[in-house]
Amino acid sequence: MTSQRTSVAIVGGGFSGAMTAVHLLKQRLAQLDITIVEPRSELGRGIAYSTQCPEHLLNVPASEMSALPQEADHFLKFARGQDSSISADSFVARKVYGDYVNSIVAQQITGRNSGRNCLRHLRSEVVDLEASGNHYALILADGSRIDADYVVLALGNLGGKQPGWLKDAAIASHAYIHDPWDTKAIEAVCADEDVLIIGSGLTAIDKIVELKSKGHKAHIYVLSRRGLFPNRHTKNYQRRPQVEFKYLSVLSALKNLRRRVADLASTSDVTDWRQVVDELRPITQQWWLSLPQSEQKRFVRHLQTYWDIHRHRMACEISDKIEKTRQTGKLEIIAGRIIQLGGEGKHLTIEVMERGKKTSRNICVSKIINCTGPQSSLETIDSPLLTNLRRRGLIHCHVLGTGIAVRPDGQIVDQKDQVLKGLFAIGPLLKATLMESVAVPELRRQALNLATRIASLAKREDCPDESALEMA
Ligand SMILES: Cc1cc2nc3c(=O)[nH]c(=O)nc-3n(C[C@H](O)[C@H](O)[C@H](O)COP(=O)(O)OP(=O)(O)OC[C@H]3O[C@@H](n4cnc5c(N)ncnc54)[C@H](O)[C@@H]3O)c2cc1C
Repeated sequence: MTSQRTSVAIVGGGFSGAMTAVHLLKQRLAQLDITIVEPRSELGRGIAYSTQCPEHLLNVPASEMSALPQEADHFLKFARGQDSSISADSFVARKVYGDYVNSIVAQQITGRNSGRNCLRHLRSEVVDLEASGNHYALILADGSRIDADYVVLALGNLGGKQPGWLKDAAIASHAYIHDPWDTKAIEAVCADEDVLIIGSGLTAIDKIVELKSKGHKAHIYVLSRRGLFPNRHTKNYQRRPQVEFKYLSVLSALKNLRRRVADLASTSDVTDWRQVVDELRPITQQWWLSLPQSEQKRFVRHLQTYWDIHRHRMACEISDKIEKTRQTGKLEIIAGRIIQLGGEGKHLTIEVMERGKKTSRNICVSKIINCTGPQSSLETIDSPLLTNLRRRGLIHCHVLGTGIAVRPDGQIVDQKDQVLKGLFAIGPLLKATLMESVAVPELRRQALNLATRIASLAKREDCPDESALEMA
């Protein structure tokens, strides 16, 4: 029996990477040296939970945000420890959630680093990855390398490249804010500056709330192709545990959903359309995997946007704030697309073609904030690592055109559709494969399953005769 240690490198230390590391640290099947490469100073926060803005709330109730699949009220207990008025239905500040995940990692490191497994956090970016046999070399931004037996890509919510319509003058003048999470850039928006927000999803909602909390008084335009905001949550319904849903065509599934929503008044156990949407959550991945590819494509093309605004909802208190701003006439939502950008410095003129209209209109603002949200197509994602992995043939685009080709268990397949032993992905990169793979209720289970899988693979390699290991 060998006593060799196995090295696991996790690229990205947001929720998915951090929780995978937590479960790897706990396991006792193999001896693991775990490295998380993450440029941020704290593990577990990623994009979603790094915000310091107290008005940025979770979009899932506290009772459903446990990071541990085995302990449903783990987060609720933590949150109540901070503020006893928090209830199961509360939408807690995302900063508090970041504190929570970070504290779980810190506890694990303190408790386990002296034992058989250890974890280190390298503050850097991985820009490339070489595969040689069953081993990998990660190349970091400063040119240094780390070797690993197993690699987990936990890259999360990745931003996109700068849009084609952007002019150099707008970039140079800082009138265009590409990264909506650049706190300094958002702070620099003056109260009297008209703003154009591109995108109308939850990132746009965050930015409107943030600007208003800082006393922004000028006009805010929100532009997206369909001009649809996410719906709001409600607290007036009970969740149902399980539902039968076996439709092999998207159209029949949609008809069933509509029928159930229309039947609300006559169905005593269903009180709100949100309940109909939410009861699909536990079985969405299973349903998605059962669909033929042609139906998955149909869903992405025709229904994804509508599904997203019903499924990803904003907290009621956030929705109230948005409505209040709308009533002042200072918030305008436009369905359309940008034709061109003119002007420079503080006076940008954006020519917009509104949906369904034949003539364009001009919008004049001082700032443009890109809120198109996380990107999922390899063509638009701005990630040197993914570009290099693709160039090396180690990954390829999922057939749906979003994310990468990966098995449902996170195993990455290369351009020849061969499984790459030891190379895994977790989180939003699996969205095309699983449909639901971006939020904590799915990711906490993925993290546990992936850690268990890696530990058992490492155990087999460390000691091919498993019975000998059990007896030792
Ligand atoms: C604004 C926002 C709010 C959200 N709110 C909720 C919510 O309320 N409830 C919920 O369930 N879900 C929410 N989500 C969904 C969110 O995707 C998950 O909750 C979770 O945060 C995803 O974690 P992750 O680790 O997969 O991704 P991320 O949080 O994006 O973390 C990925 C990390 O990888 C790092 N990284 C990327 N590339 C590299 C590289 N090449 N080298 C090294 N490091 C790299 C990044 O720095 C980042 O820290 C929200 C998402 C966003 C964007």
